[in-house]
Amino acid sequence: MADLLVVGSVALDSVTTPFGSVKEALGGSATFFSYAASFFTTVRVVATVGDDFPPEHLTLLRDRGVDTSGLQPARGRTFRWVGEYGYDLNEARTLDTQLNVFADFKPVLPPALAGAPFLFLANIDPVLQLDVLRQMARPRLVALDTMNFWIQGKRDDLQRVLAEVDVLVINDAEARQLAKEPNLVRAARAIVGFGPKTVVVKRGEYGVVMAADGQFFFAPAYPLDSVFDPTGAGDTFAGGFMGHIAAQGTVEPATIRRAIVYGSVMASFTVEDFSLNRLTRLAPAEIETRYAAFRELVRIDG
Ligand code: AMP
Repeated sequence: MADLLVVGSVALDSVTTPFGSVKEALGGSATFFSYAASFFTTVRVVATVGDDFPPEHLTLLRDRGVDTSGLQPARGRTFRWVGEYGYDLNEARTLDTQLNVFADFKPVLPPALAGAPFLFLANIDPVLQLDVLRQMARPRLVALDTMNFWIQGKRDDLQRVLAEVDVLVINDAEARQLAKEPNLVRAARAIVGFGPKTVVVKRGEYGVVMAADGQFFFAPAYPLDSVFDPTGAGDTFAGGFMGHIAAQGTVEPATIRRAIVYGSVMASFTVEDFSLNRLTRLAPAEIETRYAAFRELVRIDG
């Protein structure tokens, strides 16, 4: 088992879906990621929160063994995201993004964190992603996620950090937007040209496709009969994906494929309720049961 470090947002999310809404619930890319990854390995978070951040949210992460020593408290308001989904739950509409304490955040990595062999640069300002990457000793695998907000607003900075990562985890609309290419196969190929050798494209209810070395791997999404709130599905996917890789300590192609399925398993739980609610009720045995169900989904006899 090897250490996994994540830099990303810790947020208060206000979300409306066709099935209900929550105000200022615990969210953020690093939050979903670290909570999901904690089922697999030791995970450490680098982020910032304001002085209005409810202490019970920190307790939730610490109770799962998440190392929050890299969480820098700052004066001011915590990052806030307001979003909504229509009946097509595959696409979030961002209504408001308030960077607040992230606007002046300067991540400082203590040596214990800088030595982590596995790094996930979760969705956050690409300038901060690069800043963290520069402070790392010698990570064995670096993966990155991003979103339309940064592709539009900070494309040059994003290209700079992309040139130095191994894996890009991104949703399909954003892959097309980043590559300026509507065809997903060509978009993935173009992105490989930006730096990451492996591109993992999240396609919501249609599952995940990975492109690497001219080869493709597909995983379905779990057929759930009630999807409540897709917020955090992508980060939870990444937490299961990187968590499994760090737990195995290898980046063999077979490990990466299994990691994609573990990521899909974890995401399938997150979408069953708002915020981290379903994950907080998750028993480790449920992960293996659903992993077995995924194997069955794609089993072909003969
Ligand atoms: P996803 O896993 O893709 O559904 O990501 C959802 C999470 O991303 C939410 O909990 C938000 O707090 C967070 N988020 C939304 N916009 C941003 C942003 N611009 N930078 C960092 N995190 C964000």
